[in-house]
Amino acid sequence: MELLLEGKAVSESIKKRFEEKLNKLDKKPNVAVLTLNPNDSNLAYIRRIEKNCTKYGIGFVLKTTKTEQEFINQLNIAKQDKEITGIMCQQPLPRSLFNEINTIPLEKDIEGITYESLGKVFVGEKNINIPCTSKAVIETLDYYNIDLTGKNVVVVGRSNIVGKPLIPQLLEKNATVTVCHSKTKNIESNLRMADIIIMAIGKAKFLKKEMIKQGAIIVDVGINFENGKICGDVDFEDVKDKVNAITPVPGGIGVVTNALLIENIINSAV
Ligand code: NAP
Repeated sequence: MELLLEGKAVSESIKKRFEEKLNKLDKKPNVAVLTLNPNDSNLAYIRRIEKNCTKYGIGFVLKTTKTEQEFINQLNIAKQDKEITGIMCQQPLPRSLFNEINTIPLEKDIEGITYESLGKVFVGEKNINIPCTSKAVIETLDYYNIDLTGKNVVVVGRSNIVGKPLIPQLLEKNATVTVCHSKTKNIESNLRMADIIIMAIGKAKFLKKEMIKQGAIIVDVGINFENGKICGDVDFEDVKDKVNAITPVPGGIGVVTNALLIENIINSAV
C-alpha cells in the first residue's frame, strides 16, 4: 500500500471550512432529529451527533416517536418551527413515510434526502445538500488528489443514502461507473476490472485480495462488528499489500461523514 486514506485529515479540512462560516452566523443553527422506534445502535449514532453539535454550539432536539402518525406530527412541527434550521430523520425509515419526508423544505433538508435534493444531485447542481456518506467518499478522493477521469469505478451497494447518490457524483467526475448489489452475477469479474472500488454493503471483511487487481484504490464505507471489534466491508489485512490506496475502518469515511453533517447543519443557518 502506498497511501492510507485517513479520514482525520479530510475532516480537519472540512472543519476549517465550516468553522469560518460558524463564526460569521447571525442565527444559531438548530437541528431536530426525528426517530421512529430507534434501537440501541440508532441511539448511539444520534448521541454522537448530539455530542458534536454541543461542541460547536449547535442546538439539538431529539424527538423519539413510536408510531408513524406520531412521526408525521413531529415532522410537521419541525417543518413549521422557525427556530429549527435543519431536520434529520433516522434511517432507514419505512417506505410508507417517503412522501412525508419529501415535504421537508429544501433549506431544512440537511441530509439531502428529498426528491428535490436528490434530483439536483442528478443534474450536477453545486452548493446543495448531498447524502453525507456518499459525499464523504468524493471528499476523501478529492482531498487525496485521486483523479477519477476515465477510471473504472465499481460501487458495491445500491442504498438510497450511499450507493445510488454516488452514481451522479462519480459521473460528474468523469468516471465510468458500475454498480453491483446482492443480485449481481459474478461480482468478482466486475471487481477485478475496477481501478477504484467503493464498498458499501455491511458485510464484514467481504472484499479479499483475490477479488481485486494489483494497485486498485479501495474506499471502505462499511461499518460492521466482528468479535466485538469494528471493521469494514474490506479485509484490510488481506488486501493491504495489493492496493495502491485504501481507507481504514475505523478512521476513514465515518469521520468525514460526521464532519459533513455538521457542515450541512451550519449551512442550514446561513
Ligand atoms: P443497506 O441499505 O443495507 O444496503 C446494502 C447494499 O448492499 C444493498 O444494495 C445490497 O444489495 C448490497 N449487498 C448486500 N450484501 C451484498 C453482497 N453479498 N454482495 C453484493 N451486494 C450486497 O446499507 P447502507 O445503509 O448503504 O450501508 C452500507 C454499509 O455502510 C453498512 O455497513 C453501514 O453501516 C455503512 N454505513 C457507513 C456510514 C459511515 O458514515 N461510514 C454511513 C452509512 C452507512 P440489494 O440492494 O440487492 O439488497
